[in-house]
Amino acid sequence: MKLLITGGAGFIGSHVVRRFVTKYPKYTIVNLDALTYAGNLENIKDIENHVNYTFVKGDIVDAAFVDNLFQQYQFDAVVHLAAESHVDRSIKDPLAFVKTNVIGTMNLLNACKELWKNNSEGKRFYHISTDEVYGSLGATGLFTETTAYDPNSPYSASKASSDHFVRAYGETYGLPYVLTNCSNNYGPFHFPEKLIPLFINNIINNKALPVYGDGNYTRDWLFVEDHAVAIDLVFHEGKNHETYNIGGFNEWKNIDLVKLLCQQMDLKLGRPNGTSEKLITYVKDRPGHDLRYAIDASKINTELGWKPSVTFEQGLERTIDWYLCNEEWLKNVTSGNYATYYQKQY
Ligand code: NAD
Repeated sequence: MKLLITGGAGFIGSHVVRRFVTKYPKYTIVNLDALTYAGNLENIKDIENHVNYTFVKGDIVDAAFVDNLFQQYQFDAVVHLAAESHVDRSIKDPLAFVKTNVIGTMNLLNACKELWKNNSEGKRFYHISTDEVYGSLGATGLFTETTAYDPNSPYSASKASSDHFVRAYGETYGLPYVLTNCSNNYGPFHFPEKLIPLFINNIINNKALPVYGDGNYTRDWLFVEDHAVAIDLVFHEGKNHETYNIGGFNEWKNIDLVKLLCQQMDLKLGRPNGTSEKLITYVKDRPGHDLRYAIDASKINTELGWKPSVTFEQGLERTIDWYLCNEEWLKNVTSGNYATYYQKQY
């Protein structure tokens, strides 16, 4: 198996690459990543010397580069995670999201279509996507695999578009694909612009905890290692042309989540209970902010037997412990110093 994983230096990708490289020593695994601000080779330095693993720095938006890579390696399968992933950034620069998430995905699809045109038996394009493509839920209900797409942010619109292209290539050209839409992930190696790592970092540094609007936005949360397990399972056992929703069965209002985080952080840092909560500051709402996302993950549960292995409290504690033990990583990421790691290695 010659496997291309894209975005493997990012948050979820690093967990997926680690799992595949260590669990499948017979696979030849190439990790293609442009090392944007979100990509960090320090996330995967523990596996960089494995014989079945190669890192390639490159941009999926560059079609000629992607085609050459496919010619060179003759991939049998792709697990595609590379993306611009931060909603706030998509509001400031939507075009960057169209380039990477839509055109980048198209370039990979075209390369697969060309390489597998005479024989697509046993081949697979696995597209990793988000529950945000479904838009916003009211107070009740869950997203299922047949919920109509209704994206509201430039990020979710670009991911929705890429999902549609993946399915269109399946229908039009017979490209063997599988697609998953997952809820919010959290865990080690999460870039500290996202809520949980940002707030852990701010609590450590006694900085304000900016909560959007009234804090009643609701999200489902999944521990990132459980997502990596689900990706492994769907990659190997998911049916062609199928979509699976992945979620944590774990809905939290932002404000309740932040309060739980504050309590756990006070305990870990030996500060009196209530210290971190004083840092909470309500800030102006994000435009187009979706009220609630919640996933019905019963299909992957009943068909493939997957369910999360940790509770939210356990996952959050493991996440906090990791950040407290890896303050150097946090400092390097926030200061941009990790970029020098690549220059030193390659
Ligand atoms: P991330 O931002 O942490 O990582 C993205 C990676 O892609 C980075 O390493 C970056 O360098 C790389 N990349 C960006 N543009 C590239 C390009 N043009 N060419 C090559 N590499 C490029 O993102 P993440 O949170 O790990 O998300 C990974 C995937 O999972 C994304 O497709 C995202 O939409 C999806 N997803 C994320 C979540 C979540 O909660 N984080 C939930 C559901 C789905």
